[in-house]
Amino acid sequence: MVPPMSITEAPSVSAAAPLGAIRHDWTRVEIRALFELPFPELMFEAQRIHRMHFDPREVQVSTLLSIKTGGCPEDCAYCSQSAKYDTGVRAEKLMELDTVLAEASAAKAAGASRFCMGAAWRNPKDRDLERVCAMVEGVKALGLETCATLGMLSPDQAARLKHAGLDYYNHNLDTSPEFYGEIITTRTYQDRLDTLEHVRAAGIHVCCGGIVGMGETREDRVGMIAALATLPAHPESVPINMLMQVEGTPLARGAALDPFEFVRTIAAARITMPASMVRLSAGREHMSEETQALCFLAGANSIFYGPKLLTTPNPDRDRDGRLMDKLGLLPMTI
Ligand code: SF4
Repeated sequence: MVPPMSITEAPSVSAAAPLGAIRHDWTRVEIRALFELPFPELMFEAQRIHRMHFDPREVQVSTLLSIKTGGCPEDCAYCSQSAKYDTGVRAEKLMELDTVLAEASAAKAAGASRFCMGAAWRNPKDRDLERVCAMVEGVKALGLETCATLGMLSPDQAARLKHAGLDYYNHNLDTSPEFYGEIITTRTYQDRLDTLEHVRAAGIHVCCGGIVGMGETREDRVGMIAALATLPAHPESVPINMLMQVEGTPLARGAALDPFEFVRTIAAARITMPASMVRLSAGREHMSEETQALCFLAGANSIFYGPKLLTTPNPDRDRDGRLMDKLGLLPMTI
């Protein structure tokens, strides 16, 4: 019989800092050791650490609206909105303010506490940014937290968004530095880190995570978690996405990731970034209720709610509500 191993016995996990402490010096050796733990040990540790910082019944609910869809000049290999790929997504203009505010009101009525606005840009032009700032002000006035994802930002643009009342800015690292070049060639990893620095310097909370199931190795998933967990400050929100294969993109085909590996990635994010919201993001549409429940047990405590995630389907609100009821989970209030 294989003797039971606990995380404290795992040789590569630092004995110096207790698990659950906020650390920014995580090594890949330590994170690899987390991924390699027996599943029950990993889940136990993730749950134990989750409970140090959060009420395990509470799930933060965000709604995401695409305010400017398609026609993006970037070449992110997973994305339906890149103009480089024939995905059937039409390029649209920036949405009108009234339409955005009507969507935000509906999201609030459906239980969302945060409203995220996404635009398919390499970076916003200053005139577009002014219109987005008006949206941020309007959504904030409805009593919602505000979040935006608009591509790369200059320090001045970040400061302008902060002034408008933006609470969170989403900008993902996507994957490990080593695998990154396989996925995107039109902007560098350092470009992303620079935008994150500008957002942080402006005093906006950072939402930053990545995508798994893109053909990367476990070592790349380790590298992605290491990149996030060693940022100067942990992102307040860490979205972990499962690739949604989109017809027409380079990643339309390929083996699906084992759901247990996805759950392990969530757990590693929870353990290494104990006080961050870990968001179960894209890919839920194709996940069983059981896999989603394991993700919550692994420390996920945030979801996107609503029928569409930018341009790909998301479980409808009723289905989410039923799952939360079944699991006894409650929407987190702000
Ligand atoms: S992920 Fe964002 S930046 Fe990349 S192609 Fe899609 S919309 Fe453009």
